[in-house]
Amino acid sequence: MSDIRITVTGAGGFIGGSLVRYFADRGFHRIRAVDKKPVGQWYQRTPGVESLCLDVSKENDCRRACEGADEVYNLAADMGGMGFIENFHIECMRNGLIATNMLEAAYQSGVERFFFSSSACVYNTALQSSPGCQPLKETDAYPALSERGYGWEKLLSEMFCQEYWAERGMKTFIARFFNIYGPHGSWNDGREKAPAALCRKVATAKLTGSDTLEIWGDGTRTRNFTYISDCLAGIDAITHCDDLIATPVNLGSSEQVTVNELATLAEEAAGVRLQRIYQPDAPKGVVGRNTDNTFIKSVLGWEPRYPLRDGMAATYGWIEQLVAETTGCKR
Ligand code: NAD
Repeated sequence: MSDIRITVTGAGGFIGGSLVRYFADRGFHRIRAVDKKPVGQWYQRTPGVESLCLDVSKENDCRRACEGADEVYNLAADMGGMGFIENFHIECMRNGLIATNMLEAAYQSGVERFFFSSSACVYNTALQSSPGCQPLKETDAYPALSERGYGWEKLLSEMFCQEYWAERGMKTFIARFFNIYGPHGSWNDGREKAPAALCRKVATAKLTGSDTLEIWGDGTRTRNFTYISDCLAGIDAITHCDDLIATPVNLGSSEQVTVNELATLAEEAAGVRLQRIYQPDAPKGVVGRNTDNTFIKSVLGWEPRYPLRDGMAATYGWIEQLVAETTGCKR
């Protein structure tokens, strides 16, 4: 059992909820989980954890969230897949209130380590204009031309974290996540990302007897997808490495695929083959993206362990079950 007192914000969501379970499974027993969603709506609830409904864009709620904490993992954000971040720039930029108020409350509470979940969306979009463009290394964020709204907010909040170390001596840690996926996240509320959306569409087609699959764009865009277990191990390793204080670091798998290949993995998990219908006008994001993991490997020796095929099979199984429950169709 570890006596370290941990606060996780965004704990009603996908990564935050999984991180709470990760720490509880490792014997931490003084965990506070925080989200603005009512506790009954959280994806996961871990027994024995203090679960609070707080809005951490507000100063007072941040103080309550950070009270007595040794380590804070700030995962709260209003976010989603391309369908959300291309259409809700204001909501994304208002996430700056969360970073602003959480950093100050953590500093005032004497928190030892503060983790911030940044994103590959901070990277210069001009470097991501072809499917086979160079993998992104940490220095490629500047000169900056981030994804509008969501990416700029993350970049500014990274800088805020760096200044809390430089000017006030609070240890901050920053990971740039590349498309995290897995069970227990958004899958049908308009915030889901490509892996969950494709699993849902394939499962729905399979269970309802349809033979078509709608794909946003033309299927040729490239991305890398990181399984949740790899992400959690990476967060833990980064936050406990003093060589990485205030240093943004990529956290992602470098297994790059096209959207078409991702769809094929969902079909393979389902055991079906569907006719593809492309939607060129749907939100698509940058043309190509991958991570360069040279830096994280050199500092932590960290590499992802889960191949995309295995992660998609696990994600598909979870989503097919939910589709069966919501449609009333038999699996
Ligand atoms: P999620 O939407 O599943 O979880 C975020 C949670 O934050 C939600 O439950 C939401 O209710 C909560 N929240 C939002 N505003 C809040 C507020 N003011 N106070 C308290 N709670 C609030 O998203 P996720 O995929 O778990 O992402 C977690 C973090 O990782 C976010 O900061 C996100 O920007 C970052 N990130 C995620 C990915 C990814 O692929 N999932 C990629 C890059 C960065």
